[in-house]
Amino acid sequence: MPKIRSLLARLLPGQDCILCGAGPSASRLCMPCERSLPAPADLPGDVIAAYAYAFPVDRLVQRFKFGGDLAVGRWLGERLAECVAGEPRPDLLLAPPLAAARLRERGFNQALQLASCVGRAIGVPVDREPLARVRETSSQAGLGRAARRQNLRGAFRCARDLRGMRVALVDDVFTTGATAEAIGEVLREAGASDVRTWVVARTPDPSGD
Ligand SMILES: [Zn+2]
Repeated sequence: MPKIRSLLARLLPGQDCILCGAGPSASRLCMPCERSLPAPADLPGDVIAAYAYAFPVDRLVQRFKFGGDLAVGRWLGERLAECVAGEPRPDLLLAPPLAAARLRERGFNQALQLASCVGRAIGVPVDREPLARVRETSSQAGLGRAARRQNLRGAFRCARDLRGMRVALVDDVFTTGATAEAIGEVLREAGASDVRTWVVARTPDPSGD
């Protein structure tokens, strides 16, 4: 029965709130959940975060990333797209590659899903291939900024000539920025003239990546 119900909900106009299940309404979040969204995170210069990593965005990111709820991922991607709509348009969107084992276990790269969604919304192509992890890294969770940087040194490579291109790196969560920094270096080495980082949420403390 729950399956039939969710199928019907998909066919009928409006849908239940993706967070609390109330509904149906025209948008993906009911009004109370919408009002509970955290404010955009304040970040320096070239990093944009649609939200602070706080309730209920933290739950939504987790449901997307660990629960494989791709509809929630699309919603998050659309929100990020709205957030960057006024930004200078890059030539290309990229996503940090997942470690092979992580990708096998999860079945999808959440950052790439977000990048695809943002790319469709703002009309910028996504290159799915150019970045690779050349070295498996240990989990970043629980590591401080310096340890993260050390952990990521030489971890990425870029297979594409990006000379003169303005690139935006799309990711789900920004913690210390070590990943974005390591990839940004590689992208500039590949010739990128400008590298921005666009993320759904910014954590207040280094507890995820
Ligand atoms: Zn709700």
